[in-house]
Amino acid sequence: MNKKDHTTKAKSLRKKAEAKIKKMHVQELDAENSGNIRLLHELHVHEIELEMQNEELKAAQREAELAAKKYRDLYDLAPSGYITLDKSGAILEINKNALSLLNLEYQPALTSRLNDFFGAAARIDFQAFLNDVFAQKNGASFQGHLLPKGGTAIDVQITGVVSNDQRQCLITIIDITQQKHAAELVAASEMKFRRLFESAKDGILLLDAESGQVLEINSALIEMLGYSKDADAGRTIEAAEFWNAILPQSFDITEIVENEYIRLDDVQLKTKSGMQISVELTGNVYAAGRKKIVQCHFRDITSRKIADDLLREREERFRSVAETAHDAIITTNAEGIVYSWNLGAEKIFGYSAREMQGQFLHLIIPHEQRSRHGEGMQRIQNGEAAQIIGKTLEMEGLHKSGTVFPVELSLAQWQSGGTIYYTGIIRDITERKAAEAELIKEKKRAEELSKVKSNFLASMSHELRTPLIGILGYSEILADVLENKEHKRMLRTINESGERLKKTLNMILDLSKVEAEQLHPVMGHCNLKALVQQSIELFQAVAEQKGLYMRTRFPDSQIAINVDKRLFSDLLNNLIKNAIVYTDTGGITVSVEEIRMEGKPWAGIKVEDTGIGIHEKDFALIFEEFRQVSEGLDRGFEGTGLGLTLVKKYVELMNGIITVESQLTVGSVFTVLFPLVEPDITGLADLRYVDHAGKISIRQFENLPVILYVDNDETSQMVVERMLRGICSVEFASSGIEALAKATTKIYDCFFMDINLGRGIDGKAVTMELRKMTQYAFTPIVAVTAFAMVGDREEFIACGCTDYISKPFGRQDLLNLVATIMNKL
Ligand code: ADP
Repeated sequence: MNKKDHTTKAKSLRKKAEAKIKKMHVQELDAENSGNIRLLHELHVHEIELEMQNEELKAAQREAELAAKKYRDLYDLAPSGYITLDKSGAILEINKNALSLLNLEYQPALTSRLNDFFGAAARIDFQAFLNDVFAQKNGASFQGHLLPKGGTAIDVQITGVVSNDQRQCLITIIDITQQKHAAELVAASEMKFRRLFESAKDGILLLDAESGQVLEINSALIEMLGYSKDADAGRTIEAAEFWNAILPQSFDITEIVENEYIRLDDVQLKTKSGMQISVELTGNVYAAGRKKIVQCHFRDITSRKIADDLLREREERFRSVAETAHDAIITTNAEGIVYSWNLGAEKIFGYSAREMQGQFLHLIIPHEQRSRHGEGMQRIQNGEAAQIIGKTLEMEGLHKSGTVFPVELSLAQWQSGGTIYYTGIIRDITERKAAEAELIKEKKRAEELSKVKSNFLASMSHELRTPLIGILGYSEILADVLENKEHKRMLRTINESGERLKKTLNMILDLSKVEAEQLHPVMGHCNLKALVQQSIELFQAVAEQKGLYMRTRFPDSQIAINVDKRLFSDLLNNLIKNAIVYTDTGGITVSVEEIRMEGKPWAGIKVEDTGIGIHEKDFALIFEEFRQVSEGLDRGFEGTGLGLTLVKKYVELMNGIITVESQLTVGSVFTVLFPLVEPDITGLADLRYVDHAGKISIRQFENLPVILYVDNDETSQMVVERMLRGICSVEFASSGIEALAKATTKIYDCFFMDINLGRGIDGKAVTMELRKMTQYAFTPIVAVTAFAMVGDREEFIACGCTDYISKPFGRQDLLNLVATIMNKL
């Protein structure tokens, strides 16, 4: 029983006693008097007792009130908020702490519901929490944002217990705003650490210092140890497995723990696949709570080591090259102080490495060039990029003996530890310079010689061909005259020998022209089929005579190529001529086709024969000068070995390609390819080139046309007169002056103009003068020349010639040309 209970009981006792005394007093007063006095005394005693009791009770009450106040104070001043709530959340009692959390006064609080201090969503959760408390669910608790009256939201944590009568509950409410903030900070820093840990390029390992147990391994280390990131990420590598990867002698954890730090430059690790890698290890120890943690960083230096080794090897190689090089290899700093000086430098400049190291480089620079060198070095020091870096320069060097000699310098710039160095490779080019000077001299001489040769050829060609007109012309004319068979046979030999001589001469001269680069093809669009047809017709009769067939295979479409007509005909004629010469049975097929090669269209001309064939090993040889692969003592073929050489040169001069396929005793195929062009009718103006054409019938005139033949060679004059007798009347002029004089006294129908007229004005000048005369504005003028030099044909056209014939010409050539001209008159 507590003090309050006692007080209550004492009070009620007194009430009862008073009631009893009243009763007794009335009855006893009536019954006996003495008894009354005793009773009064007793009553008095009791009264005193009662008073005393009352005093005691009062003291007890005071004590009780003090205790209640203490309880209230405790309740109010508790660090947590206490609130008594009913089931609906209405506040029945609340302590000061809770009041300050809600920012409320006591009285208004007793008319509020705690639910109203939460946002809509939290309110539902809070009510659910209250229900749980009243249902006496274990561990019911609530966390949420509390919205104090007129204040900013705070995070609270609430727990509660239900009262014995289950009609109220007491909840404890704690402000956890700071705690939550701190937790967030911890979480953020944990996340930061994780990110760093996981994204680190170095492998990181955390170990328990005491047990050596692996606590954490980051992905970089997992990968470094050869475990797949995907397959192995997330799983911890067992300690045993990890220690397995580290070779036993590599490092000792106790050493790190003792020293609290370790740095090892080359620790060997064994990867999952057994491969050995080199790592750099740094380890330190720190305390985390009561635990000591060893943190190790591993940096894979395998590739760096390989690079280092390579660098060392290269350096070694460079050093040995530098030492053994014949060139001087000199390194200086930016001030020009020699840093390294190899054996080559010793030999070239005469100074030893000991003499030069630490010296200024200008010791090896000729005196008069030192200031320029100094300025250059100054510019470099001022930060201007050296213009000569990476280039090779020719300059002069100064030998210890004082000799100045030419050198070639290649300079490189490099940097090491913030210092700039220059390495120069210097070559003594004294001999080379001398050789160069010699070469230049030789070249000049060769050029002069070449000029002499060209001039020689030009004049020799004229000199060699002109007499051939006499031989060939007269042998032709005599053939008509001679009766005696023996004489006729001899004449034929003279003629054939002349022809052969002419052909050989032509080829040698043509080849010389190609080689002197004096043959410039006059390219123009040509109808390929027509050109090929022309050549075939030329050889039809020869083939027939030998009993060989001569076939063609042409496509239906027109094919145009861009070539020099004369060169093209020459080369094709050569190929056909060879095919006939080297074939005894069967025949020759010439075909034209379009071919695609390397994505481009080409015109292909094939000359196929069924002749003796060529051995594969000779395919290249046949195109060389003077090479005849069917050569030998029993060679039964005539020839110079120049034909195919010329053919190849012509083809290539006109951007074509020539190939050969052949099999001994089966036959050969020569294929010539030229880039195909669109057929074009507007070609270059071209001279009619007359050669070997078939016979053309000549128009008959009432009065024979009169030709003025201008040539200083009398034999030629006589041959021409003889050849054209009865066809036209030929007059002669032996010089340009004479020709012009004659042309003014009479009208000529045509001129044959030898270009090289010896002394005086040449044929071109005469032609130009003639063209100035109105009567000769359109008169045919045929250029007669022995050796067309570069640009001559264009010049002939430019000065007014209409036709062209090359010396020596045969009778038929001349007749054909005259016929063509006459038919147009
Ligand atoms: P040649 O004047 O000797 O014919 P070429 O230069 O024209 O000179 O030819 C060189 C050599 O190539 C010939 O001597 C011959 O041995 C060989 N040759 C050329 N064309 C043919 C061919 N159609 N069939 C067989 N051999 C050939």
